[in-house]
Amino acid sequence: MLELEQDEIKRRAVGLHLLLFDVDGVMTDGGIILIEEKGEAKRFDVRDGMGVTLARTAGLKVGIITGRESAAVYRRAEELGIDEVCQGYFYKEDALNLLLEKHALDVSQVAYVGDDVLDLPVMKRVGLPIAVHNASPEVKEHSIYVTQAPGGYGAVREVIDWLLELRGQKEAVYGLFASSKEKRS
Ligand SMILES: [Mg+2]
Repeated sequence: MLELEQDEIKRRAVGLHLLLFDVDGVMTDGGIILIEEKGEAKRFDVRDGMGVTLARTAGLKVGIITGRESAAVYRRAEELGIDEVCQGYFYKEDALNLLLEKHALDVSQVAYVGDDVLDLPVMKRVGLPIAVHNASPEVKEHSIYVTQAPGGYGAVREVIDWLLELRGQKEAVYGLFASSKEKRS
């Protein structure tokens, strides 16, 4: 893991604008179920999904960058209101560059959560590179945080909870969803 002062990690979390996730192995456990003819199935975690809602409520933009392309991912992204969906990017840095330009952001304002070697070019650039528990050792080495939870089983939610806590927003955002319907609207 990269050694960084806690104050510096907090500073970067507070300055964060765009939270990016890889899909396979991060939003899922990495399993891909191939269905006859064409099409594939993936299993997503519902608490991770709520995490995305919490992050967007906290004012963060959320995006995904994946090397594969599948209808299941478009559908899940739409369900969750994910702001940026970049599928079919074998070179994930290309997607990062597009997003930086589109949102007029500096790499320091971006977090990326990955698990494998294709994620490294992006992770080596962004302000907050994060690895999931099941990530390859090289990916963990280039991270400032490694989740306890594995991909597909709460890693996304753990990252979002960690970031909201660092940003001092967790209590307020959780409070919003824990309150009655009248208070929420
Ligand atoms: Mg992956």
